[in-house]
Amino acid sequence: MTQTLFRDDAYLRECTATVTAISEQGLVLDRTVFYPLGGGQAGDAGVLVLADGREIAIADTRKGKSEDGQPTDAICHLPALPDPAASVLAHWQQAGVRVGDQVTARIAWERRHRLMRFHTTTHLLCHLVPQLVNGCSITPDYARLDFSMTDPLDKDALTAGIARLVAAAHPLVVGSISDAELDAHPALVKSMSVQPPRGSGQVRTIRIGGPGPDQMIDFQPCGGTHVANTAEIGAVVVTKIEKKSASTRRVVLGFAA
Ligand SMILES: [Zn+2]
Repeated sequence: MTQTLFRDDAYLRECTATVTAISEQGLVLDRTVFYPLGGGQAGDAGVLVLADGREIAIADTRKGKSEDGQPTDAICHLPALPDPAASVLAHWQQAGVRVGDQVTARIAWERRHRLMRFHTTTHLLCHLVPQLVNGCSITPDYARLDFSMTDPLDKDALTAGIARLVAAAHPLVVGSISDAELDAHPALVKSMSVQPPRGSGQVRTIRIGGPGPDQMIDFQPCGGTHVANTAEIGAVVVTKIEKKSASTRRVVLGFAA
């Protein structure tokens, strides 16, 4: 099991950690600041700094998988391989990394911050477009959110709506609710494609807006990394709206040039 430091503090750029496992799935640490691909958000990249100062590039981060394909509590750091077909295990072995080694895990912060800005913007879109989401992908360069709807969407109106919510500098609060509370309020789940992380009895939540009930902009279960205030999003615009299918409208987000 890997301790997920990014869940409590999305702004942590590095941590010291101990290598607990190395396999073809990647290198596992006892704790990490690297977010693994999930909930539509891309896995983090960065470096592992070894005790002798050498830096090993990390290209991606994934959740571990059990033999029957179920996600585990392990977070696997994948090295940047010179040849994509090369062995992940051999790469770590050639670097001389062993279980028990102390390392520093450091994320590529500019890249992560772009992911945070986009992820929070997708929650703002859920406020602006009150339809269910049936697809989501957040990358460092663009994000897209698919809404289950047949009505057209206006690109410029959505961009203006995002700009208004960014300018209003709404705070974000990370919290949690119990599985039972979530079961009692199923409408909190706005995504048909991403199920909230259950199992521990508590589900992590992201609230956008001040503490009063009339100040709430958006509230939903989410395991991703977010900015602390919508002002930090900066200039994110809707670059495209696509009719993905008869009943799906896709909103594509980008950074203003
Ligand atoms: Zn989210």
